[in-house]
Amino acid sequence: MYLVEDATCFPLLRSRTGRYKTLHKEHHVEIFETLQALGYGELHFANDAESGLRSIIALHSTRLGPAIGGCRVRAYGSEAEAIDDVTRLGQGMSYKAAHAGLPHGGGKSIIIAPPDLDRPGFDRARLFAAFGRFVDGLGGRYLTAEDSGTSPADMNVIRSVTKHVLGASPEMGGSGDPSPFTALGCRRGIEAVSEFALKRKSLAGLHVAIQGVGHVGYYLAKELAALGCKLTIADMDKKRIDLTLKEVPATVVSIEQVLEVECDVFAPCALGGAITEDGARKLRARAVAGAANNQLRTPAAGKILADRGIFYAPDYIINGGGLIHVAAEYAGYQRDPAIARVNKIYDSIRDILLRCTKDGERPEIVADRVALEIIARGPKS
Ligand code: NAD
Repeated sequence: MYLVEDATCFPLLRSRTGRYKTLHKEHHVEIFETLQALGYGELHFANDAESGLRSIIALHSTRLGPAIGGCRVRAYGSEAEAIDDVTRLGQGMSYKAAHAGLPHGGGKSIIIAPPDLDRPGFDRARLFAAFGRFVDGLGGRYLTAEDSGTSPADMNVIRSVTKHVLGASPEMGGSGDPSPFTALGCRRGIEAVSEFALKRKSLAGLHVAIQGVGHVGYYLAKELAALGCKLTIADMDKKRIDLTLKEVPATVVSIEQVLEVECDVFAPCALGGAITEDGARKLRARAVAGAANNQLRTPAAGKILADRGIFYAPDYIINGGGLIHVAAEYAGYQRDPAIARVNKIYDSIRDILLRCTKDGERPEIVADRVALEIIARGPKS
């Protein structure tokens, strides 16, 4: 474990229920157990009293290249919860980069939302400049980007203090919003699911229920409607529903109903943990294929889906389009090769499906194993 300037280490204990409790210093060794279990890596902490920054960068792996992963800003119930979030997400980024065939490792960062973040007059630029210096201190082994709670404007601030940031706005030399690329990859994944799991040659008439029409869900709805899919959408934000309905025909259901819509594909595009064990039992879709991260709330939820014959497209493979897009920026952006790589998500989902059928294993288990194999092989020469 590395500690950077002004750093503070938050000691933890993981209880038998799998939840963390913050404890005294002598228990800090539990952090290493967590890191070991997830295959880390490094965890870096920064505390900057002047800006209010309390941030963690989780560097899961740099074996294949510099780690890429977005910066998430949110309030956490405890420091332990923040560590849980950032470490799980960082591991997912390594697996995502491996499956996308990128010369990158995985990492993630979080900023614990200061209590006055949304108050008028809060100096957001000072917060993100402090975060940028934190990122800069890692010397390019971690490249940050946008995630929930951050925007291209925040990336622009980070860009003013470090070059190790991707997804700033095009005026600042960045590649901008990755969401359309995430949606494209997701659509390609749904095409593979449709063809190989649902045995349909075309998407015309395929009924997809989209949970959340935010940045990605909106573009996904447009992609699918253009290919003749029948859509059902749900979002708690009426503005997002209205915006989507301006572009595509869709049936609107409540956020409670969307999980139980009888459809071909359920596409979670809202928050993580959408598929609980109860939800997996209630789902009336034939497959789950969407853009959200960490869709399965527990491993048991994945087992319930498999037992019910519902194919699950592993989230970190099908939602890799945004990562491919920001990685292309790092490599000196060229649109066509980036799009070609996003299109390969179709092949990746097909390959997982075929391996599941052959080995009789669950998709998320096969996906983890393949990712570890790719990382263990090391960089392509
Ligand atoms: P977003 O915040 O723009 O959109 C999420 C939408 O879901 C919002 O409109 C929100 O109102 C809605 N929502 C929240 N809870 C809901 C619920 N219970 N039911 C229905 N709708 C609900 O986020 P985004 O950028 O579109 O990302 C969506 C998901 O995809 C996230 O899990 C994100 O981590 C993941 N992801 C995004 C990208 C990207 O390029 N943006 C890349 C990879 C993964």
